Amino acid sequence: MSLLLKNGRIFTESGVLKGGYLLIERERIVSIGTGSRLPRADEVIDLKGNIASPGFIDIHTHGIADIDFMGSSAEDLHRSFEKYLQFGVTRLLPTTLSNPFDTILEQVKLLRRVGDESPHGAMMHGVHVEGPWLAWRCRGGHPEEFLLVPRKEDVELLIGEVGDTVKTVTFSPELKNAAWMCETLSVHGIVPVIGHTEATYEQTMEVIRAGARHVTHLFDADIGFRESDTEALTMEPGMETAVLINDGVSVELIGCPIHVPTPLFRLVDKVKPHDRKILVSDSLIGAGMPEGSVITFRDGRQAEVKQGVLRMIYRDNPDLDGNITGSAITMNMAVKRLSEYIDAPLEEASRWATINPAILLGIEQETGSLRVGKRADIAVFDDSVHVVMTLLDGEPVYRNSL
Ligand SMILES: [Zn+2]
Repeated sequence: MSLLLKNGRIFTESGVLKGGYLLIERERIVSIGTGSRLPRADEVIDLKGNIASPGFIDIHTHGIADIDFMGSSAEDLHRSFEKYLQFGVTRLLPTTLSNPFDTILEQVKLLRRVGDESPHGAMMHGVHVEGPWLAWRCRGGHPEEFLLVPRKEDVELLIGEVGDTVKTVTFSPELKNAAWMCETLSVHGIVPVIGHTEATYEQTMEVIRAGARHVTHLFDADIGFRESDTEALTMEPGMETAVLINDGVSVELIGCPIHVPTPLFRLVDKVKPHDRKILVSDSLIGAGMPEGSVITFRDGRQAEVKQGVLRMIYRDNPDLDGNITGSAITMNMAVKRLSEYIDAPLEEASRWATINPAILLGIEQETGSLRVGKRADIAVFDDSVHVVMTLLDGEPVYRNSL
């Protein structure tokens, strides 16, 4: 079975091919080119001038639409894959939130089972465990009653029970045993990720030496530069300084100007090596739903989707009404916005959401770019990054107006 995608703008590793084609056999790309002499194929799809990009890889997402990775049933979790495909995502790391430790382990096991059983389970590369090893002051949306300091027995339980599924763990470097945990996770192939932290420069350097090599939503729920305690008007370097000057450490930004003021996108774009910049949604339920949709959390509180963020609804309390409670952005929208913030063409912005996260996860030989031999995980979209088709392993699994 072969499939030819023709008449597209193909985002290849080495540039954009206009009027290009992609030939796919079974799940792999076997030929990429331009010109009027097209290879033969069993099936042909005309891309009508749309862009063919590698599928997006979202390494930090808590949910989408009405589905919450910490609370939804197996049936709903199965459904989540189809939702992500609508926005061009072909790989994701469902992300947990601080909870009783046993609950986190059980949820990772449920996600593993769903990934194994679902027809689109290939999309789930593994799980990102965010918390419970987070600093109290920087906990953000993580409930304080569940925060923990890394203990040997918990870390060993995580590795023993779900070490095959957990790919990344976000923790705060200033916690006791953090460096030890980094070494232990690294030895077992799990990426230790710095985040939710007010760590000093030295504390951050210690965990980088111990294997930490990524940062969760930089500039959100962390504290960097601060004034010296002993020398007035003198700045102390903090976590940001350590991670921005270490080229081996990648950083992720939420693709939303409310979570990350736009000059900070330009700062990261300028100082980080081209393959160490990653875009994430950090989306909660509500993501991808129409503007103005109202969602209800498990505790009964309600929030409204407004321009890619969730804002709380407290009709009787003007102080709280409209407060931000999280991101509702989708990856396609994040890529479009990023290209505006850093003033770069879409093919450059899309790297932050495709090959760069693939490199962090060590799957760049399989997916993350359009190259002969790789899996045909492809998002097709227009110049507004409105997704019209998504292919997973060479199969068109989502199609809309194409
Ligand atoms: Zn998160």
